Amino acid sequence: MATGKTTVARHLAEHLGLSWVDLDELIERRSASTVARLFAERGEAEFRRLERELLLEELSRESAGARIISLGGGALVDRALRVEVLHRAVVVTLAASVETILARAQADKAGHNVRPLLAGSDPERAVLRLLHERKDAYLEAHGVVTTDGRSISDLAQEVERIYRSDTVVVAAAEQTYQVYIGPGQIGARLGQLLGSPSGTLLVSDENVMPLYGPRTRAALDQLAVVHAQAVLTPGEEHKSLAGLSHIYQAAFNGGMDRKSLFVGLGGGVVTDMTGFAAATWVRGVAWLGVPTTLLSMVDASVGGKTAVDFETAKNSVGAFWQPRGVICDVETLRTETDRAFLGALSEVVKTAIIGDPGLLELLESQADRIMQRDLTLLREVVDRCVRVKARIVALDERESGIRAHLNLGHTIGHALEASGGYTALTHGEAVSLGLVAALRFGQRRGHTDPLLTERVLQLLKRLQLPHVLSRRALEAAKSLLAHDKKRAGTSVRFIYARNVGDVWAEPTALVDIESDITLLADD
Ligand code: NAD
Repeated sequence: MATGKTTVARHLAEHLGLSWVDLDELIERRSASTVARLFAERGEAEFRRLERELLLEELSRESAGARIISLGGGALVDRALRVEVLHRAVVVTLAASVETILARAQADKAGHNVRPLLAGSDPERAVLRLLHERKDAYLEAHGVVTTDGRSISDLAQEVERIYRSDTVVVAAAEQTYQVYIGPGQIGARLGQLLGSPSGTLLVSDENVMPLYGPRTRAALDQLAVVHAQAVLTPGEEHKSLAGLSHIYQAAFNGGMDRKSLFVGLGGGVVTDMTGFAAATWVRGVAWLGVPTTLLSMVDASVGGKTAVDFETAKNSVGAFWQPRGVICDVETLRTETDRAFLGALSEVVKTAIIGDPGLLELLESQADRIMQRDLTLLREVVDRCVRVKARIVALDERESGIRAHLNLGHTIGHALEASGGYTALTHGEAVSLGLVAALRFGQRRGHTDPLLTERVLQLLKRLQLPHVLSRRALEAAKSLLAHDKKRAGTSVRFIYARNVGDVWAEPTALVDIESDITLLADD
């Protein structure tokens, strides 16, 4: 509020040749009233309802092309609306100190532009209260720009830079971070995200370090501080306390303290371990994720879950610890093995079914070019997956509700993966089979549209993913269903899909899945 949103938006619109909408003006036009009068006569709740309706309507006018919309300071306080808007637009918060806000509000008042929420007898208290109440709303944005003492053109330039960064935001209050996606992003972005740490610890593995270590180190070397590194032995079997200890040792030798920054460069094993080491080293340091596999870009990079395995319990020692930022340099995907890359495409198909019909169409129409790792398409695929996951995670950080939808295909998939001793099938291959099984099971229960099952099956086939369910494999997986992490007593929260974008969790008796499982087979 009173941070110059209208002025900056108008300036930027002129500079970029875009149209510009001021939401308060739109509300006044539609209601044939003024904001102050609406507040006085209908109350804040009714004003917010109108504001929300017009904002969503404005965002839906896709034919109007790119536009700048300036919002009132309370427009995005409602979390569900905020997450929706973050999904559909680039959101920039203009922030100012209490003194600046009061001075500007005073000047506005002199010009007869009264701000209803600051109109009381103690505006300073009102500002402090509003800033406190709206803290999360202002931090959950693609960028926060401090406006005190800065010129309009300077501010407009910074807003433009944020707009052009084209990031996906993962909304998590003060831990909110951006995911940068595209080819060449390590060189282009890493330097900007480092801040001014007291030292850096680069964590990678023996496969990835020789390939992408030099360009990562080139960015880190711009900082005149101590650089340490830990090069791990690749593989899930090293995602262990012993592997973790290797990272701590490097942090210890390098003298990493609270102001240090850890950088995890590698697949999901490396990023999960780096994140957990960062969460626990001297009770928590900042870290950056630089995922280099399709799976770690589309899945592990979003949500702040970090962990190592203990004995056979996967990810059992872990923490939620959000990174400062994530860089998905899709160029690195060119060197990933075929098996790992194709396997991860099953998670992409899963994500498309959960929340992006356009992504499913893209996979169907461009399967060949995606498999050839066309960088433009990879950028789009990763971007769309990260958007879907970021939205789900923002609404359910601790997995008490819709985050469970991400387990679509995983209940039977995990059992198949386990029954193959974790070597016969990769996780991605097991998810592919698990998707077919989940859709067929949903169909048997009258939930899933058979056309969806057929469509997904054809797509998995084109993507060269396993899609034929053998009775023998399902029989072997049957007894392992009870080990599902999401089990509660004698049932599991099974994830059903009726159609694309229509996915839900429903407690399902294990005996029902067990008795039907072999009926899902092709043979
Ligand atoms: P991975 O990290 O084991 O990497 C697979 C292999 O590819 C490794 O040998 C690695 O050295 C190599 N590699 C990585 N990038 C490469 C590149 N660009 N070029 C050539 N080789 C490369 O496996 P993954 O599939 O990336 O990740 C699996 C892990 O991710 C699991 O431990 C899983 O638990 C975790 N995960 C975490 C989350 C989360 O939310 N935190 C989500 C999904 C998966």
